[in-house]
Amino acid sequence: MEGLPRILIVEDEPAIADTLLYALKTEGFAPEWCATGRAGLAALAAKPFALVVLDVGLPDGSGFDVCKQIRTRLAVPVLFLTARNTELDRVLGLELGGDDYLVKPFSPRELTARVKAILRRTNGAVTPAPGAVGHGDIVVDDERCVVRYRGVALDLTRYEFRLLRFLAASPGRVFSREQLMRAVWEDPAASLDRTVDAHVKTLRSKLRAVAPGADPIRTHRGLGYSFSEDAAPAGA
Ligand code: CA
Repeated sequence: MEGLPRILIVEDEPAIADTLLYALKTEGFAPEWCATGRAGLAALAAKPFALVVLDVGLPDGSGFDVCKQIRTRLAVPVLFLTARNTELDRVLGLELGGDDYLVKPFSPRELTARVKAILRRTNGAVTPAPGAVGHGDIVVDDERCVVRYRGVALDLTRYEFRLLRFLAASPGRVFSREQLMRAVWEDPAASLDRTVDAHVKTLRSKLRAVAPGADPIRTHRGLGYSFSEDAAPAGA
């Protein structure tokens, strides 16, 4: 089992879960199944997974909320399963940090192809150590709450850590200040847009201290911030 990419399936319909378990096993993955969002979050807290297949309609809440909670702590890729083919689902899913989605019904072959594509995109050739997620220059070690930038451990505050972790998990994706606020801060209502700006500023100066001129956090005027894809591994 060691070495097989572990995939977490969070899906309340046993028939769908069975199909997914079989399809993923056949393709050389080590899938595990949880039927509720709560059980899924507990499984993610217990050990690292390479990817989460997350149903949107769960008995104990929405898969979007589960994704949001995952995103405050982990950069693990999320593939949403949805029964509703609406644009809203798509936008919501991607805004909350989902990496892709499939609309039911879908074929097992479609799912495994999508899983492989996401893993290729997010992992590149790099296999991070358990508990650590790497994107080229940046390696995030969740177990120790440490970020290494070009091999140097950064001395970050809690929100700097969470902000950098969140941005670096999706290189090239632009997040608005509001999205960052919701994803990173525990009490977004009590914070201001400039809170994000202030933390980006201090993060940048800490990154610059390691590599002057690299500046992997990009500003998109009127839109927000992204983490540079140049800092991501080749092929990502
Ligand atoms: Ca469901």
